[in-house]
Amino acid sequence: MPGQGKRKRRQEALNQRLAARTTPDKGRWQVVIETGDKAELRAHLRRLQEARVDESMIRIDTLCRRPVQQSTYQLSRFVPNPSHESGNEQRRTGYRYVGPADLKTLIRPGGEGHSVRSPTDFDEWASLREAEEWAEPFTFVVDGTGTLRLASRRSEHVTCAGGKKVLSAGEISFQHESGKWTVAEVSNQSTGYCPDGSSWPAVAEALDRVGVSRPSGFTHEVVFRRCSSCQQINIVREADFVCAFCNEVLPQDWNVDRLGP
Ligand SMILES: [Zn+2]
Repeated sequence: MPGQGKRKRRQEALNQRLAARTTPDKGRWQVVIETGDKAELRAHLRRLQEARVDESMIRIDTLCRRPVQQSTYQLSRFVPNPSHESGNEQRRTGYRYVGPADLKTLIRPGGEGHSVRSPTDFDEWASLREAEEWAEPFTFVVDGTGTLRLASRRSEHVTCAGGKKVLSAGEISFQHESGKWTVAEVSNQSTGYCPDGSSWPAVAEALDRVGVSRPSGFTHEVVFRRCSSCQQINIVREADFVCAFCNEVLPQDWNVDRLGP
């Protein structure tokens, strides 16, 4: 048949392109559901389609058993490795507070975290700490001007930031070694702001400005996603992008700021 060879070649090229997007170095296949119930399988597939998951990133395997009635279907979704491409807008404009509204009532003028802008500032702040304070990590935010603000761990991030937008937020601990301050651990653990891991450069810059040695990234990185179905904010563990509250598939990109589907 005329044109058949061409069509076949085009289909092969397309298949190759799709296969290249799901190679093991780009991510991994994660089983969404294994079921013998075709209706259940279709319901899950529909949800993935409604969540606008690319069809080439969805796979259905039939696990054959004898008798045939015991065969099951496995619906998998390809979960790409985090790209750190997300959160671009927040990197520019900052993260707004997304936590419980009642915590906002804790904000008092002058109650913000201690601004640390230089090595002298840091030494001064450090000299004012009680010995037992060092045992716990501190609450930190990088405010809209790129300044590191530190507060005791008991402080809420929203208080530390005076309710304003932040470039990053989390917990941080320091150690003093051979006359030099070093970051022992640092995370983006803030359920008030839920910043993306891509907010790290703002933290790095703020720490460099105060002359504290630091790691090359968060020592503990939290992945926050908002469920587009039930709107709850999830902490994604082990790349398991499924809502803990309603089982819906969670979006790949940082979306905590966005309400609605
Ligand atoms: Zn949900």
